[in-house]
Amino acid sequence: MSEASGGTDLVLGHLRAAPGTRVTGHVAVDLGVATVEVPVALVNGREPGPRVAVTSGIHGAEYVSIAAHRRVAMELDPATVRGSLVSVLVANPAAFAARSIYVDPLDGKNLNRVFPGDPAGSASQRLARWIHDAVMTGSDAFIDMHCGDMNEALVPFNGIEETGDPGIDDRARAMAAAYGLDYLVVGPLPGSTTTSATALGMPALLAEVGGQGLWPAADVDRHAAGLRRTLAMLGLRDGSGDPPAGVQRRLGSDVWLRSGTTGFWHPAVAVGDTVRPGDRVGEVQDAFGAPLEVVTASAGGVVLFLVTSLAMNVGDPLLALGS
Ligand SMILES: [Zn+2]
Repeated sequence: MSEASGGTDLVLGHLRAAPGTRVTGHVAVDLGVATVEVPVALVNGREPGPRVAVTSGIHGAEYVSIAAHRRVAMELDPATVRGSLVSVLVANPAAFAARSIYVDPLDGKNLNRVFPGDPAGSASQRLARWIHDAVMTGSDAFIDMHCGDMNEALVPFNGIEETGDPGIDDRARAMAAAYGLDYLVVGPLPGSTTTSATALGMPALLAEVGGQGLWPAADVDRHAAGLRRTLAMLGLRDGSGDPPAGVQRRLGSDVWLRSGTTGFWHPAVAVGDTVRPGDRVGEVQDAFGAPLEVVTASAGGVVLFLVTSLAMNVGDPLLALGS
């Protein structure tokens, strides 16, 4: 439990939420080359409880997560919340505005690879540092909501890492089980939000539902239901009326396949398929249909995410296999 929760104001930038209130607004963050206005919702309960930080829009074109997060942050009743919620609804406003895939258009960097950031660095590094210092630090738990990017399909999955500290790990596993997406991927991702939050000593959860630039109601509902259940598990809200979480299959590792060439990507598998080592999973062709690269699975496993754009660049991810 954080001392800031219960009976004291919740503050972020110029926003201040008294106990029993929700305050929304844009917080200006100086990124050197530009100042961005980050939409934030603060929900401060009357009763003591955990301070939970949630982000979405770390990748600006991941709409299911942005839509679901806003729904839950705005529906919570501050009169019944225990503790507090710090919701950064669109963490990377420049990427959102540009409909940018993977990267922040201000510096071309992937925000989810530069944590914990650098206050004197480039735009993404400065934004990461603000999230690290102002949003994560002082929280009791952290949740980062994503989905497949504009060019990606995926099966719903959660991610955590395990530190060896049962006080953190048991809680992270419980957060994932409550969110209840189909798979649980365990392992660090250097430079990511969740790895950075875990290093601060709190349980951190990644949640992924949907993708391809769409935000159908069923996907938004599923992401929102998961967030609600995890907030209930943490004690922030009453979850007695929630539908139960789905059964989650734990995966020990995930392997990313990347393209060795630039061309036209023709996958031969779909998300959720199970492949064996050596199986052909697709090919990259030239402009006239001749194969440039036949891609085979370097490991067996389930296809967790799959790039669905025809355009493919050397070094880009093609798909991930979890096993
Ligand atoms: Zn993402």
